[in-house]
Amino acid sequence: MNELQAGKCSACGYIEYPLRDICRKCKSTSIEMITLPTNGTIYSYTVVRYPLKDLENPPYIIGLIELDNGVRLLSRISGDIDSVQIGKRVKLSEVTTELTDKMLPPFLFALNE
Ligand SMILES: [Zn+2]
Repeated sequence: MNELQAGKCSACGYIEYPLRDICRKCKSTSIEMITLPTNGTIYSYTVVRYPLKDLENPPYIIGLIELDNGVRLLSRISGDIDSVQIGKRVKLSEVTTELTDKMLPPFLFALNE
């Protein structure tokens, strides 16, 4: 299932991923689960060109993605590193549990080519 579940505070509307029991903004414990949009825009990015221990082989893209509801997530981004740009559209392409013991987020967004 390629979707990400987040928590939305019923008191103040703040959305947080990953889901938490208590709202970071207003401390309410009234949190509802929502599904995040699967499309977004690259807010900022970097291309990792040097290997880090136990992480994937460079070069690869890490970006701050602004989802279509305004929530920002840090993610790996697959696609051509020469065509990545701020403002480009991306789509959630993979959600995995295999990477959760590593430092990278357990999901992958892909550049819309
Ligand atoms: Zn709140």
